[in-house]
Amino acid sequence: MPHIIDIRSDTVTQPTPAMRRAMAEAPVGDDVYGDDPTVNRLEALAAQKAGKEAALFVPSGTMGNQLAIMTHTRRGDAVVCGRNSHIFTHEVGAAAVLSGVLLDPVDSKDDVIYPDLLEGAVREEDIHCPPTTTLCIENALACGRVVPLDVMEQTYAAAKSHGLNVHMDGARLFNAAVALNVPAPELTRYTDSVMFCLSKGLCAPVGSILAGSREFVARARKNRKLLGGGMRQCGILAAAGIIALEEMTCRLAQDHDNAAWLRQRLATIPGLHVKDQGIQINMVFFTLDHPARVVEALPAKLLERGIKINGVSAGELRFVTSNDVTREDLAVVADCLEALLKEG
Ligand SMILES: *Cc1c(COP(=O)(O)O)cnc(C)c1O
Repeated sequence: MPHIIDIRSDTVTQPTPAMRRAMAEAPVGDDVYGDDPTVNRLEALAAQKAGKEAALFVPSGTMGNQLAIMTHTRRGDAVVCGRNSHIFTHEVGAAAVLSGVLLDPVDSKDDVIYPDLLEGAVREEDIHCPPTTTLCIENALACGRVVPLDVMEQTYAAAKSHGLNVHMDGARLFNAAVALNVPAPELTRYTDSVMFCLSKGLCAPVGSILAGSREFVARARKNRKLLGGGMRQCGILAAAGIIALEEMTCRLAQDHDNAAWLRQRLATIPGLHVKDQGIQINMVFFTLDHPARVVEALPAKLLERGIKINGVSAGELRFVTSNDVTREDLAVVADCLEALLKEG
């Protein structure tokens, strides 16, 4: 196979050779009976890495978020979340379908839910209003920004003053922790539950973690069964997750450095505007002054040169760095893009 440079997302990462070996050799059992030693090891390790009492292995980040909502709420509750959050925009409306809750989206100029924005979104105690019981935050944010610790602390305090449960969609929790230069538990202490993905920049083939108190995770485990997410000999998958947590969290800074390098390189291309206000993780966002015809042709033209990118979304292009792309690959991407834009 020719070398393909895939910068569409960090979800495209291949499991590492060490993961494939660990998967082949993992001792397994029926996890619904609690009998899979590899899953049990992963869940204990994940709880420790997340700074929570307990953790649950789930098939996807979406299921982890939805289990959190289902476990924190009752039907008819209102749940506050960001307007551009994954839970609001990218989970097929699951919170309404599966948990019967109303999502109350908050508009924010930088997607961060500040305490005053939360105050404005919590519904009054009134016969006409559903009770607001839960807040869902995101860190790192899908826009590539990272929420600082002091803001997390203040928003958590505001949520608690209203008696809310706080769930964090931390699909890229370890990217956020690396960007803030703190261990992940420094972030998760301002949450009641957290979901993070093993399958993105951490390179596991499948799986996410939902972590929280022992009592919360026990109820989430039952809800996972309800949703059909009780898996059997899934230690085969958990084995890769253990390596994701033990080894792959340690190299995320490299992806961030590569993204920073790419931002600088792309900024030298005429008519290309890199968005770098506060982007701190493995993502590069930019816009182009070029005619729509030129911009829309880019994915197909780059593919002819062995480079996979996503098309424009909301007027922007996004490139994502990962374990599977080197600095040299990114230099090739920048050179090809520059040449194509010059051609017009
Ligand atoms: C990818 C992602 C998810 C969901 O993960 P899946 O495993 O794709 O379901 C949730 N939240 C954010 C911010 C994500 O980037």
